[in-house]
Amino acid sequence: MSSRLDKMRLLTPGPTPLPERVRLALSKDMLHHRKGAFKSVMAEIQRKARVLFGTGQDVLTLASSGTGAMVAAMQGMFAPGEKVLVIEGGKFGERWTEIARSHGIIPLPLKVPAGQGADPEKVKKILQADADIHGVFVQLCETSTGVQHPVAEIAAITSKTPALLVVDGISGLGITPCPMDDWGLDALLTGSQKGLMLPPGLALLALSERAWEKAAAITTGNYYFNLPEERKNIRKNQTHFTPAIGLLLGLDESLNLFMEAGMDNIFRKQWALCRMARAGVEAMGLSLFAAQHPAWGVTSVSLPPRIPASQVLDIAANSFNVILAAGQGDYKERIVRIGHMGWVDWGDLSAGLHALAEACKSLGAEINSGGYLEQALAAYREAWEKGYASL
Ligand SMILES: *Cc1c(COP(=O)(O)O)cnc(C)c1O
Repeated sequence: MSSRLDKMRLLTPGPTPLPERVRLALSKDMLHHRKGAFKSVMAEIQRKARVLFGTGQDVLTLASSGTGAMVAAMQGMFAPGEKVLVIEGGKFGERWTEIARSHGIIPLPLKVPAGQGADPEKVKKILQADADIHGVFVQLCETSTGVQHPVAEIAAITSKTPALLVVDGISGLGITPCPMDDWGLDALLTGSQKGLMLPPGLALLALSERAWEKAAAITTGNYYFNLPEERKNIRKNQTHFTPAIGLLLGLDESLNLFMEAGMDNIFRKQWALCRMARAGVEAMGLSLFAAQHPAWGVTSVSLPPRIPASQVLDIAANSFNVILAAGQGDYKERIVRIGHMGWVDWGDLSAGLHALAEACKSLGAEINSGGYLEQALAAYREAWEKGYASL
């Protein structure tokens, strides 16, 4: 097969492909950010972003990658010397620990074995034993391992304590349900290049009422990410500094796509893609890295011994024009991650599964090539019909 004749399919857990309507919005000419036309766009974004977040709170927009919003939340809500509990189930959990340390905040890591979800009971016990823990940090989806953490259960615990729950929803928001106010989260953030179907460079962050009270008392925060200043500005449909105007025009359109489809249908599609990927991988005889609590936007596949991820990725790219991701950290060569978030559908995922199977086969792995696509598509249809509410 000649990959030159194939469409390029970007199946990575960020960045993700862009819908045509978003690309057209991104190509618009500049607006001046202190003038009325831009303020109208910001008002529209605010209205729709609150639906996306499931919150009545202000949703801040920051010109940064997703990590910028992680820094903004950590440094804007906590003071040096304060203790925070960090759920560390992979690369992005570790990032919370590093961000805390960089600001003199004391992280207490709760290690979760790679490929598993956090245990809410452990969080409860730790908080009960130490009343001096000011915050709990977690990922909605630990993208490095393809696991979804039980955020609703953790929030049910933290909301009864003074500890504030901060959720990195970068690869989960707009992919899997995470209604901020209903669940009682204290901070929820995301970046533009995962579920939101935008290029990288924009981050969104919302805080609960009690998180805003805590943030108001912080004097050691970050000059660029000044949460109270950003809040004052967003209430005037403005931002503290020059915003990423082009990306915001794109965000306005991508949020239109969400609103037109309805959040429930977006989640339903993501759930069906998750079932499809898992059914396909198992049917071809490979094993899933996250046995339980799978992320809805990325599927991690354990490779057979002596099949390195880098070679699988090369073959998938060179022979099929399918771009997959390797593992991260210790699992770099041991797992392949198929991203199926954002503007990705069952056709793209079929291509991804096929490229994975063929690449593994050509490297000498035993792949069961009879019918894995049929089984994957049957799983998609069944999950779509039943919906995720039947979980
Ligand atoms: C991608 C990702 C990040 C990092 O975001 P950047 O935009 O690269 O800064 C952080 N956390 C999670 C869960 C992610 O998936």
